[in-house]
Amino acid sequence: MPDRYKSVLLFGAPGAGKGTQGKILGRIPGFFHLACGDVFRSLDMTSELGKEFLNYSSRGELVPDELTVQMWKQNMHAQTVLSLFKPKQDLLVLDGIPRNVAQAQALTKSLDVLRVIHLRCTDENAMMLRMRRRALKENRIDDADERVIRNRFDVYHAETYPVLEFYPKSIIAEIDAMGSPAQVFQRVLEVVVPVQDAHFNRPA
Ligand code: AMP
Repeated sequence: MPDRYKSVLLFGAPGAGKGTQGKILGRIPGFFHLACGDVFRSLDMTSELGKEFLNYSSRGELVPDELTVQMWKQNMHAQTVLSLFKPKQDLLVLDGIPRNVAQAQALTKSLDVLRVIHLRCTDENAMMLRMRRRALKENRIDDADERVIRNRFDVYHAETYPVLEFYPKSIIAEIDAMGSPAQVFQRVLEVVVPVQDAHFNRPA
């Protein structure tokens, strides 16, 4: 399957820091960051898909797989056509997708997953605090309500966590997500730089 995107997945519970790490990484030449939640949030909320997104996300639920995968594929295609993402030069850094085993299965034809970066944070209170701060800063209704946050964690444990079992153990990197963004980023770089070196020829 020669046309699969070479990718690393940022994986972890809500509030573990996937978005923060992904955004920093995406600023570095040769990395392209795409957060599924950001793509959803950029939709026209009066469109059918926008309304569907609001309906699920406001309860902390996942948007149905078929809609999600279709939207993701269309977005990747658009990014490629616009040359924002160059699959031959850029390592794709995905955040927030796949979110369950069915999505992981549906994406096997599109993705060559080289590493899964599991951002581990055992302190749920710290993650909830991060989410509340983010809710205020980014005006995210899904992270403002305690019950919705709780449900997001439940969905993570029940549906998303099993995705780790879908991929071979050998490609999973366990990373401590506690600490400052810079400290965590240092750990992330130790994993992704060798992947980039091994799979892309980048001029110095
Ligand atoms: P996030 O910004 O990744 O926390 O995503 C915010 C919300 O968008 C989630 O709670 C879901 O409702 C929806 N969402 C994001 N990514 C996915 C996905 N891969 N599958 C289903 N729903 C998603």
